[in-house]
Amino acid sequence: ELKAIVNAPITDGALADGEKVPLLANLGSPKDAAAAVALGAEGVGLFRTEFLFLDSKTAPTVEQQQADYTAVLAAFPGKKVVVRCLDAGADKPLSFLNDAEEENPALGLRGLRALRANEEILRGQLTALAGAQAATEAELWVMAPMVADVEETDYFVTLAKELGIRVAGVMAEIPSLALMADQVVGSADFVSIGTNDLTQYTMAADRMLGSVAAYQDPWHPAVLRLVKMLGDAGRSNSTPVGVCGEAAADPLLAVVLVGLGATSLSMTPAAFAEVRAELARHTRADAERLAAAALAAPTATAAREAAEAGPVG
Ligand code: PEP
Ligand code: MG
Repeated sequence: ELKAIVNAPITDGALADGEKVPLLANLGSPKDAAAAVALGAEGVGLFRTEFLFLDSKTAPTVEQQQADYTAVLAAFPGKKVVVRCLDAGADKPLSFLNDAEEENPALGLRGLRALRANEEILRGQLTALAGAQAATEAELWVMAPMVADVEETDYFVTLAKELGIRVAGVMAEIPSLALMADQVVGSADFVSIGTNDLTQYTMAADRMLGSVAAYQDPWHPAVLRLVKMLGDAGRSNSTPVGVCGEAAADPLLAVVLVGLGATSLSMTPAAFAEVRAELARHTRADAERLAAAALAAPTATAAREAAEAGPVG
């Protein structure tokens, strides 16, 4: 079966009834772009810009950043490329953004909080991105990481637009943002669900800590209920709601996420073939039935089993 998948022609992601589900790439460097294109990436759903600067002692210049961002965008002419502003802190510390020692870095000054406290760095990054947008044919979308609420959403979207970014959105990876989804979709052009952190914070289990690794399971119905709130909110006013966490690379969970309202899936390109094959086995009605079964389950394990049992009724 694996061989059949590997040899299958590369098509766009779609459900069995033909409904398109764009499969986008998670990238950490311009060097990864060519491989993503070869594996059929329909665009980029998460470019983790902080990976470029993990070893930098000082903030990168606008010129250096513009060159890196232009290299990524140039690989996707006419395609959507979602770039995330620097997500510094906890598992991805940057010495020029995170200086204080923190007892609980996952709950600390990280993501958009750290950028807002160092606004000149955020302005520089947005300026570099606007320059790359002007220099290429890709459709650039820019999002902020670790956004807690509508006020932070408004802050980021307003600043991004002031600096020339055409499409600005937020990551949904803190439960407070998901709980405010109906209001967030009025402020953001799009939402991208980061299931890794959304799971960490919903389950209150440090994603870096082996002793609580069993809690880091995005199949947990509590996580899926937050995804549904976001999906419903997006559908209510046609705001795109993608998923860019590891959950999107689990083929059956990808189907459930679509059933909950995800409009695109972003993942490591190595996962495209299996996710594409699984999506093609389910209609929209199936996907919604699997999602309903998973939501009604009591545990992560039971949710997965309910989805594996297939659609009922
Ligand atoms: C996430 O949290 O799900 C996500 C996509 O971002 P990262 O894994 O880089 O924190
Ligand atoms: Mg995250």
